[in-house]
Amino acid sequence: MAHIPAPHSGSPTPRPDVALARGCERCNGWGTVVTPEGRHELCAACQQPTSAPPPAVTAPNS
Ligand SMILES: [Zn+2]
Repeated sequence: MAHIPAPHSGSPTPRPDVALARGCERCNGWGTVVTPEGRHELCAACQQPTSAPPPAVTAPNS
C-alpha cells in the first residue's frame, strides 16, 4: 500500500517570510498569526500565499 504520511501531527505552523513580516503590526513581525482556534496561520496582512512570486532562485547566468 502506498501511504503518504501526512505531516499534520506536530508543528502545523507554516513557514512565513520574516522579511515580509518585518514591520507588520498585525503579526508583530512574526509572519504568523494565531487563529481563534489556536492555530498558527500566515499573516494575511503581510504574507501573500499565492500572489507573491517566489524569489529568483535561478538567475539566467549565461
Ligand atoms: Zn504580518
